[in-house]
Amino acid sequence: MSDCIFCKIASREHSARILHEDDDCIAFEDTNAQAPVHFLVIPRKHIETVLDGDESILGKLLFTAARIAESKGLGKNGFRTVVNCRRHAGQSVDHLHVHVMGGRWFSWPPG
Ligand code: AMP
Repeated sequence: MSDCIFCKIASREHSARILHEDDDCIAFEDTNAQAPVHFLVIPRKHIETVLDGDESILGKLLFTAARIAESKGLGKNGFRTVVNCRRHAGQSVDHLHVHVMGGRWFSWPPG
């Protein structure tokens, strides 16, 4: 989608600190990090929310998120994954993304 910031990152029209890319997805650092490690994994294709993705891409995003988290040394102490869906959850970019945050303690339940 032409006015989507994450589509622009996927097509390299907009810069980002990219951690991983393959045919299906891209991972890059969140510019407003909420933890010492905070990155996003997105599909290359414009998919608005988790309600719109199929089993294949949803599985790929989570699998990729876990592998990158592990490669960043988060496997031992753990990390949090978050997928915000629409307004009540605070989704601010309407291109599906998995947040991965680690390197600190997280409370449960979240606020
Ligand atoms: P959400 O509120 O779940 O939609 O999360 C959107 C996330 O995207 C926020 O954590 C933002 O900090 C992050 N974000 C927005 N624009 C960019 C960008 N250009 N590069 C990296 N992260 C971004």
